[in-house]
Amino acid sequence: MESDEIDKAQSAQEEPDTIFDKIIRKEIPANIIYEDDQALAFRDVNPVAPTHFLVIPKERKGLTGLRRAVKSHTNILGHLLLIASQVAIQEKLDEGYRVIINDGKHGGQSVYHLHLHVIGGKQLSWPPG
Ligand code: IMP
Repeated sequence: MESDEIDKAQSAQEEPDTIFDKIIRKEIPANIIYEDDQALAFRDVNPVAPTHFLVIPKERKGLTGLRRAVKSHTNILGHLLLIASQVAIQEKLDEGYRVIINDGKHGGQSVYHLHLHVIGGKQLSWPPG
């Protein structure tokens, strides 16, 4: 993750409306590659790999981050993973990919609306920093 993303994550906090809500409401443009009644997938504006997209729930329902997950979120959490897999196939990430959820300050989270990063299109290294 680039250092300006880490800088953003240092000061980011939960807020009632995020940039992702604006994307869901189509108030700001995004390169949307999948949409259904529960989820949206769009390309990350600052890609860290040849393919980098985000999968988000359309309704946040308290899911500012993974730490807020409770039993009632079970279905949407499963749905987001399924969509990550389906869009990875659509994006032809046949050689593999990585799914990441950054949580909180130490996790480098900068937008407090739960999102899965899906990155691929090259050989990824491990461990992340
Ligand atoms: P986080 O650091 O895990 O919270 O990830 C937030 C991600 O959202 C970052 O990778 C940003 O590049 C991405 N992002 C922020 N604003 C936009 C946007 O308007 N469109 C697409 N991606 C965005």
